[in-house]
Amino acid sequence: MAFDYDLITLGAGSGGVAASRRAAALGAKVAIVEGSRVGGTCVIRGCVPKKLMMYAAQYADALREAPGYGWSLGDARFEMPRWAQAKAAETTRLEGVYRQLLAGSGVELFDGWARVAGPNQVVVGDRTLSARHLLIATGAAPVRDSIPGIGHCAVSDDLLDLVDLPQRAAVIGSGFIAVEFASILARLGVAVSLYYRKELPLRGFDDDLRRRAAQALQAAGVRLHPNGAPGRIDKTAGGLRLHCAGGEAHEFEFALNATGRRPNTERLGLETLGIELGPHGAVPVDRRRHTAAEGVYAIGDVTNHRNLTPVAIAEGRALVESLFGGATREVDLDLVASAVFMLPPVATIGPTEAEAIAAGHALKVFEADFRPMRQTFFGGAERSYMKLLVDAATDRVLAVHMIGADAPEIVQCLAVALTCGATKAQFDRTIALHPTAAEEFVLMREPTRVAAARAPA
Ligand code: NDP
Repeated sequence: MAFDYDLITLGAGSGGVAASRRAAALGAKVAIVEGSRVGGTCVIRGCVPKKLMMYAAQYADALREAPGYGWSLGDARFEMPRWAQAKAAETTRLEGVYRQLLAGSGVELFDGWARVAGPNQVVVGDRTLSARHLLIATGAAPVRDSIPGIGHCAVSDDLLDLVDLPQRAAVIGSGFIAVEFASILARLGVAVSLYYRKELPLRGFDDDLRRRAAQALQAAGVRLHPNGAPGRIDKTAGGLRLHCAGGEAHEFEFALNATGRRPNTERLGLETLGIELGPHGAVPVDRRRHTAAEGVYAIGDVTNHRNLTPVAIAEGRALVESLFGGATREVDLDLVASAVFMLPPVATIGPTEAEAIAAGHALKVFEADFRPMRQTFFGGAERSYMKLLVDAATDRVLAVHMIGADAPEIVQCLAVALTCGATKAQFDRTIALHPTAAEEFVLMREPTRVAAARAPA
């Protein structure tokens, strides 16, 4: 049977674009369909604009520190409209780059909402396209029903498009998005209250990082409400009212719903292929990213597995190299580094201490907790914390955890060593690069504790 294309990709985010371009480079005839802006969550309404906002927030710290380094400063103030204008220009530029990359690779772009109409068939507006292979890469979107009334709150897309900042804001949740924006907004002059349902923020991260992340948020002026997620949110004349435990109610002009994201699978027509969606509407896939339907694949956040841009890109490239490159490639997600771009940032690779013990490892734990030189010079209080988890039996470094300046940059480099299976002895043999904070990772000589293994459950 003849098809219009070898591959149609639904969704032109980072994963979809990377997969489509690689498929085209391997000689496939490829179309990609995008219902919103090319670039997707990461480029348009996620990682990139968030990091640009974090950079804006970082200047608040730099300005506070500068007098200690001999600077005299005049009045400095942050003007959100100017940042918003520059951010809009940058995302437009990047969208243009993505469009050019697609065109330059020979991938045909269709602007519009895609709907699967049956095996090998995709409808976009009044066009019906056919392909031997369909790739679902439609990403995820904020949940809007986690708490009664949470639909009244802004989501991260709205926050990144604000032109003026509120004076007071509530942030609900304590995952990546909540913690990053609470930290950023506080530095930009917003009085932030963080409401979350656990004792500590950042579930899934090592407890030593979680405790220090909470302290860092507090030090930035964020009011923490642990065990304090609202049970209901009402819209009021002046904003929003959060109904919390014990009958307390708190009013805010602005509240951010950061209670998670859900795969974009509604109205995609996947039922026409016999695909039964998993929890939260995720597309179930096997290790190769194949769905239950012949010739249909899914990558990235729509599978709700490891919702990180580089994972989606790696999955997409491996998939199309298997389909069109004559190779059988699978992505190994055992060791994936991730970072929370709060200030100071958190970065991590490998299991938490609790996870490593539960997985049956006897551990040597190495830690450093110090005020970096940059802070001590002007009397700043910010600390850096670093932790290595070493398998006591094999000497292999299982995990690196850090909160502190430059943590994501440092952990990205150490991720190479861990991927290569580095041992603690090899860390010890590495000559330090002085003076840096990162050198602490090769100077930790004595374990701060030894933890016995627990039999795996
Ligand atoms: P997360 O899953 O990280 O966090 C969701 C938060 O919402 C958790 O604190 C969770 O609490 C809370 N929550 C969920 N339901 C409720 C409820 N009913 N009541 C109260 N609290 C609730 O999601 P995010 O939206 O922050 O981020 C989505 C994903 O996007 C991340 O998991 C990450 O993979 C990715 N991302 C990555 C970034 C990066 O790489 N820097 C940045 C932003 C996003 P609890 O912990 O108690 O379950």
